[in-house]
Amino acid sequence: MIKLDIIAGARPNFIKIAPIIAAIQKNAVQKIQYRLIHTGQHYDKKMSGSFFEELRIPEPDINLGAGGGTQAEQTAAIMIGYERLLLDRPSDICLVVGDVTSTMACAIVAKKMHMRVVHVEGGIRSFDLTMPEEINRMVTDSISDYFYTTSEVANQNLKSYGIPDDRIQFVGNTMIDTLLENISKFVKPDIYQKKNLTPQNYLVLTLHRPANVDQETHLKILLEEIISNSENLPIIFPVHPRTAKSLKAVNLANQNIYTCEPLSYLEFNYLVKNAKAVITDSGGITEETTIMNIPCLTLRNTTERPETVSFGTNELIGTNPGNIGPALKKLFSGTWKRGSVPPLWDGKSAERIVDHLYSLYK
Ligand code: UDP
Repeated sequence: MIKLDIIAGARPNFIKIAPIIAAIQKNAVQKIQYRLIHTGQHYDKKMSGSFFEELRIPEPDINLGAGGGTQAEQTAAIMIGYERLLLDRPSDICLVVGDVTSTMACAIVAKKMHMRVVHVEGGIRSFDLTMPEEINRMVTDSISDYFYTTSEVANQNLKSYGIPDDRIQFVGNTMIDTLLENISKFVKPDIYQKKNLTPQNYLVLTLHRPANVDQETHLKILLEEIISNSENLPIIFPVHPRTAKSLKAVNLANQNIYTCEPLSYLEFNYLVKNAKAVITDSGGITEETTIMNIPCLTLRNTTERPETVSFGTNELIGTNPGNIGPALKKLFSGTWKRGSVPPLWDGKSAERIVDHLYSLYK
């Protein structure tokens, strides 16, 4: 029996681990004994609890309660909590997903305890070291034993760092496993009714990257550009906790933009699936819009997910507010590209991961 720790701490992690746990429960309960460790990085219902309920993720076996604080305080709290746990109750493999603080912190602790570290979504790079996530990716990948990758570009990145082929498993995208599993179960959110939304007649907006949201004046200019170029379509803006702070200083009253708290997964993707387009700086959302064939305007200068642009519906608009007008003009002219599905984004990625994990230890 393999002992596997599955680490999850922040919103996008929950969506990525759900199908991995389901695949273990379906095919490998006799072979893999897992425990789910919630680091506590995101801790409230809107950013954590609702995902466990909707995606039927089992209650975490352990919660390290390491929420809040600065990057360093959070990293330290997660490392201390996970090390204590491992000293008391050791494990064999540490599976980390994505690029959040919990990913990096637990990978370091596990590796120093001589465990194997496997990184789901390994190898992707924005090459922008002003993003905390890029540092998390680089550190995690530098000490991971196996990489479960989402794209050919990720494979090439890892190879260019000298990682041999047998440590790179191109499995596809577990976030898309979750999307395909749930696409028929999306739930109309209250705001849809309240604002009399109709299909293809509104925009969805999400922002949470420091470069866009940490400075009130920049955020205000971005929002003004979006509002004035949106041809009066309602803009639905579920606000990430990081963004809420700067948004307090921006007056959005009497405009065609409507804020709400972060939505649950099934509600949020109902909105996306029926939207005219999504404007975002998220990584995961560019993957979901690619699969749902919804135009996506990304307010970033780089992406670690270039396949969402080359195969998908995503365009990098950049962080310069002046680029928003021309991009929205292109959207409203009806000439936005249609997307195609990147290789292996087929809903079976988690099964491939679990098969490989087991093959390592047979
Ligand atoms: N999401 C959600 N509710 C929201 C906004 C996003 O459920 O109000 C989901 C979205 O469908 C995607 C994930 O959260 O699966 C993306 O997370 P986020 O944008 O926070 O992180 P990133 O992907 O940029 O790391």
